[in-house]
Amino acid sequence: MSEHKPTDVTQEQAEEAVRTLLRWAGEDPQREGLLDTPRRVVKAYRDWFSGYQIDPGEYLRRTFKEVAGYDEMVVLRDIEFESHCEHHMAPIIGRAHVGYLPTNRVVGISKLARVVDAYARRFQVQEKMTAEIARCIQENLHPVGVAVVVDASHECMTTRGVHKRGVSMITSQMLGSFRDDARTRAEFLDFIGISRGGR
Ligand SMILES: [Zn+2]
Repeated sequence: MSEHKPTDVTQEQAEEAVRTLLRWAGEDPQREGLLDTPRRVVKAYRDWFSGYQIDPGEYLRRTFKEVAGYDEMVVLRDIEFESHCEHHMAPIIGRAHVGYLPTNRVVGISKLARVVDAYARRFQVQEKMTAEIARCIQENLHPVGVAVVVDASHECMTTRGVHKRGVSMITSQMLGSFRDDARTRAEFLDFIGISRGGR
């Protein structure tokens, strides 16, 4: 399944859109300090939204290792990410914690971080991103279970709207044994430092 999304928007059209927003805000895009801004913004967008060019499952399909015998939980916590909310195109800054209970396939921990990044570098809703990461691991590694917890702050909430700083949102998606077995779930939450009933 390729998730590559071709685009018919040229670089020049994207830069013109930035000039339009500058004019709309009351600026003169021809002012010297702003001349290169559209080019820089489009370049930054290429980086922030590079996830559309990536099929995250590829990281897991290509690089898993068979490790018959290892049947304990693998947990990667505090995976820092930057994303953007699809409602305001404002940054979402946070951390993801990922755990799975392997059958006989494990991946290098950097691959899990890459999966998080690939989904983060798109326009997102935190709940959707949490579920997407879990489903990608489930479908590609076929573990006994997957757990994903995302803890993030949304700049559309901290810098505008209700202006609440220091507020973070926590979402979780538990699949397989993490959903069905309270002890497995509790062990994972303990690993990442969120204890049962602690909130
Ligand atoms: Zn938002």
